[in-house]
Amino acid sequence: MTAIGFIGLGVMGGPMAANLVKAGFEVTGFNRSPAKVQRLVEAGGRGAASAAAAAEGADVVITMLPDSPDVEAVLLGDGDDDGVLDRLAPGTIVVDMSTIRPDVARSLTAAGASRGVRVLDAPVSGGEQGAVDATLSIMVGGDAETFAAARPVLDALGRTVVHVGPPGAGQTVKAANQLIVGGTLQLVAEALVFLDAHGVDRSRAVDVLAGGLAGSAVLDRKAPDMLDRNFQPGFRVDLHHKDLGIVTAAARDAGVALPAGSLVATLMGALRAQGHGDLDHTALLLQVEQLSGR
Ligand code: NAD
Repeated sequence: MTAIGFIGLGVMGGPMAANLVKAGFEVTGFNRSPAKVQRLVEAGGRGAASAAAAAEGADVVITMLPDSPDVEAVLLGDGDDDGVLDRLAPGTIVVDMSTIRPDVARSLTAAGASRGVRVLDAPVSGGEQGAVDATLSIMVGGDAETFAAARPVLDALGRTVVHVGPPGAGQTVKAANQLIVGGTLQLVAEALVFLDAHGVDRSRAVDVLAGGLAGSAVLDRKAPDMLDRNFQPGFRVDLHHKDLGIVTAAARDAGVALPAGSLVATLMGALRAQGHGDLDHTALLLQVEQLSGR
C-alpha cells in the first residue's frame, strides 16, 4: 500500500486527505492546529506531531499550505528545523498542491532533485466542494515519469488531472485560473448590484444568464452565495489576493500587460484592507455595493 504523508489539513487539505483514506491509502497527516489532525484521525487516518513525522517513511508527501513561504519552510527548513526534503529517502515523490509562485515551485523541484527526491507542482481548482467530492481539476508541472508514478494518488483527489508541462507549469496554469476566476467574480458581483438597482429578480436573472454565454462555474456556484449573503469561506479573500499577486508578478516577469487583472488585484487588496480578508472572495459584492452607495 502506498503510504502518504499529508501536511496542511485546512479547508482543502482536510477533505483531500480524507478522500485518500477512503481510496485505500495509508495517510499520516500533520497540521499546525491539532484539531484538524484529529479530524483526519476520525476519518481513519493517522495523526503526526510534526511535518517531519508525517513524512517519515512516506512514498508520497503532499503539501497543501497557504503560501510560498509556508511550503518553503516545511520542505527546506526554517531556522533550526530541518526541512522535510532532507529527511526523505531518495525516490520519494513530493506533490505540492498549494497555490504558490511558479519560480518557487521550480526552485523546490531543483532542491528535491539535488537530494534524489522527485517534486511535482500540482495546484488545484474546484474549491472546497471539489475537494470534498474528489472532483478537483489538478494541473501538474514536473517530469512525465514522476507524473505517471503519482497519477493514482492524484486520481483519488480529482476528476480532471492534466500534466501541463515542466516544473512550475502547473503553478503558471493555476495563476491563469485565478485571473479568470477573480475577473469573473468581480463582474458577477457588479451584475448583481446592477440588476438589484433596476429592481429585477436576481435569482431569475441568474437562471437565464446561466443558460447563455454569460454562464460559468463561477456564476453557478458563487452567485447563489452572493444572493444569500453567505460570505463564509470557501476561499478566503486573503488567499485570492495572494494569488493575484502571483499573477501580476509573473505577468510583469514575462512582459505581459494585464489591465483588467491588475484592477481586480487592486480591488481584492482594498477588500482585504477593509478587514474582509477572512471572508470568502464572494465578499467582492460588499465592495461593489459600497462603491455604489447601496
Ligand atoms: P487553509 O488556510 O484553510 O489551510 C491551510 C492549512 O495549513 C491550515 O490548516 C494551517 O493551519 C496549515 N498550516 C499553515 N502552515 C503550516 C505549517 N508550517 N505546517 C503545518 N500546517 C500548516 O487554506 P486552504 O483554503 O485549504 O488553501 C490551501 C492552499 O490551496 C492555498 O495555497 C490556496 O490558495 C489553495 N486553494 C484553495 C482553494 C479553496 O477554495 N479554499 C481552492 C484551490 C486552491
